Amino acid sequence: MQFSSDVTAIKGVGPEIKNKLQIIGVQTVNDLINFYPRRYDDYSQISTIDSIEPGKVTVKAKLEKISGRYVKRAMHITEATAYDSTGRVKLVWFNQPYRAQSLKSNIDYFISGEFSLQSQRLSIMNPSLELAADLPVNTARVVPVYRETKGFKSSQVRKFMAELMPLIQLIDETLPSWIITEQKLMPRREAIMVIHFPTSPDSLAAARRRLGFEEVFELSLAALLNKYELMQDKSVALPFNRELAVKFVCHLPFELTMAQKKVVWQLYKDMQRQTPANRLIEGDVGSGKTVVAAMAALAPLHHKAQVAMMAPTELLARQHANTIYSLLQPLGLHENVGLLVGGMKPAQKAEAKSRIASGLTRFIIGTHALFQQGVDIPDLALVIVDEQHRFGVGQRKALQSKAGHMPHVVSMTATPIPRSLALTLYGEMDISIIDQKPAGRLPIKTSICSPNSRQTLNDAICQQLDSGRQMFTVCPLVSDSDVLAARSAESVYAEFATKTFKKYRVGLIHGKMKPADKESVMQAFAKAELDILVATTVIEVGVNVPNASIMLVENAERFGLAQIHQLRGRVGRSQYQGYCYLMMGDSSAPSRRLRALETCDNGFELAELDLEIRGPGAIYGTAQHGQLDLRVANLSDTRLIASARAMAQKFIDKNENLVQYKHLHTQVSKLRVITNLN
Ligand code: ADP
Ligand code: MG
Repeated sequence: MQFSSDVTAIKGVGPEIKNKLQIIGVQTVNDLINFYPRRYDDYSQISTIDSIEPGKVTVKAKLEKISGRYVKRAMHITEATAYDSTGRVKLVWFNQPYRAQSLKSNIDYFISGEFSLQSQRLSIMNPSLELAADLPVNTARVVPVYRETKGFKSSQVRKFMAELMPLIQLIDETLPSWIITEQKLMPRREAIMVIHFPTSPDSLAAARRRLGFEEVFELSLAALLNKYELMQDKSVALPFNRELAVKFVCHLPFELTMAQKKVVWQLYKDMQRQTPANRLIEGDVGSGKTVVAAMAALAPLHHKAQVAMMAPTELLARQHANTIYSLLQPLGLHENVGLLVGGMKPAQKAEAKSRIASGLTRFIIGTHALFQQGVDIPDLALVIVDEQHRFGVGQRKALQSKAGHMPHVVSMTATPIPRSLALTLYGEMDISIIDQKPAGRLPIKTSICSPNSRQTLNDAICQQLDSGRQMFTVCPLVSDSDVLAARSAESVYAEFATKTFKKYRVGLIHGKMKPADKESVMQAFAKAELDILVATTVIEVGVNVPNASIMLVENAERFGLAQIHQLRGRVGRSQYQGYCYLMMGDSSAPSRRLRALETCDNGFELAELDLEIRGPGAIYGTAQHGQLDLRVANLSDTRLIASARAMAQKFIDKNENLVQYKHLHTQVSKLRVITNLN
């Protein structure tokens, strides 16, 4: 048997188990070795029967009075009495009719299970038991618990792992030896052995540290290599023009916040260099990122170069185009602004493309499709990516080929990424944070509502609508579903328009509509020709309607904290008080998670909380962030992250040759080709 062998090479794995393993992504022996436990049950303490207490226990005992019977037609009970020199205890198994035959008397067993009260008496329920003379796998140790699928139990994995022990002894080291020494890391072979066969809490902690370190080290090294590769490239240096910047600021209807000024200044400094800028701007919803982007663009515009701004949706691209057009009008630069999105008519599109190619359009606004359709942007010097976390090396290369040189890249996001995560995942970027909101904004009043209070809520809503404000309503589904008991935008729309709010003008918008239809509904709402807009999360990012004061979220329990925070950021964008109502699907008590929204209006804190409760995948979506698939490392372990990052830096400073570390090389190469841009 080898690491690359098919799982069927393992004793006891036939075609049926092979299929079940495939479901959990395990095909080879090596995959199985790298299938780590989800948690552990500590059965390592062996007690005498007279000293056991309710909870997880292990005893070493012999059996007597073994019997099996059916109590009802579909319920079988096996019972036995275990005894040692100190006393007796009852064992009970449900629906394991084969048990009785396999049990022998007069021989010592290790018996591990839950000692608990069952029908008025204490017994050990559904215990595992193994002959005390054998090496224990399911009893008398810290027992690993693996992810189970239907008809496939953790105990089977444990048995296979026991078979694989000799092979685990042959696992090679993957990290450079100087890192192992300097960081006092457990060798890989030992760590994997301990993960499956823990000997003590301390050694388990050391094994987890070792494997977690490796994960973060790989991520950090990939990010740093990306960064250094980018630094080899050249961009066009774009010294900023003070006069133009001052003029821009003078024509703004508001004063920029300190935080906005700071970030604009950083961007100007970045672009003055020939080294390609690569900066991520994190700013909570409503912190005013669009105006920062527009102001940054003055640098390339002044040098008659081109800027491309990408938004995640057409809706947002159109909105940005309008905003930027009016921001640049006082400077006489609005003629340079052009939109390019998929929903345009072929003739319009051709016209837009030719204006871009000839340099008439110098501020191009579109969706990510901009870079997939043969659009020629000959003088591209700056790329602004709105609401996008990351731009892979692959896409950069594509951009470079358009312009012949590397553009500066600025990414903007309102998804508050906790610092620990940002450092690990975006190590190749410089990070700026807009940590301040424009002055005079009233904090949004958020409250969780139960369906019983619907009427009171509707009255409050009518009051707002009557005073001229508007309302967004967001539902988890587009249409009613047989599977999910949740409100759909279509049915809520019908109900609001014909019943609940029939004296108001109600509109509907969702992702399945044609772009042109979405656009006209959105326009109508923006122009206050609609009072209520029933929507799905298409409106989550970026949409700006300052007169809207209410965000009603239906089935709030179905949304993530960061998502609701984004949603409520759609209101309270002006002098009017904003309200966010979180309507629950039923009258059960809301979770601690949702409660946090009532008191906390800081996106970063909410993200930290989500990270803690739900894990990174749940917040950021695993599809988009495959690299977040950390199996061992805990992303709030800042010490681990700091040391892994330091070692990655040292690895590069020492001029280590990555190719000589085969496994590391493969892993890092995988992480470097991250193509999130869809
Ligand atoms: P986001 O950071 O969520 O993208 P936007 O750029 O859409 O935020 O800005 C939200 C609103 O705040 C817009 O109406 C914008 O004109 C306004 N705004 C931006 N900066 C300021 C400021 N410094 N003072 C007052 N209002 C501002
Ligand atoms: Mg925005």
